[in-house]
Amino acid sequence: MPIYEFECKKCKNVFEVLFRPGDAQTGAPCPACRSRRTKRLLSAFAGKIGNTAGGAGCGTCSATSCGPT
Ligand SMILES: [Zn+2]
Repeated sequence: MPIYEFECKKCKNVFEVLFRPGDAQTGAPCPACRSRRTKRLLSAFAGKIGNTAGGAGCGTCSATSCGPT
């Protein structure tokens, strides 16, 4: 399951949200102030998990930098 980090633009709180399959992964309200003005951050931890589970085919580089060889 992907874990996303969000930063609240209102109170600068950074929190993690665990999404289950089927959930809308567009945003999450801040647990501290309930603001929906949050921004998703890149999470290297969740990204590695996703690449492994997805089986992108290239084991030597990340999916974002993997080009045809
Ligand atoms: Zn907040």
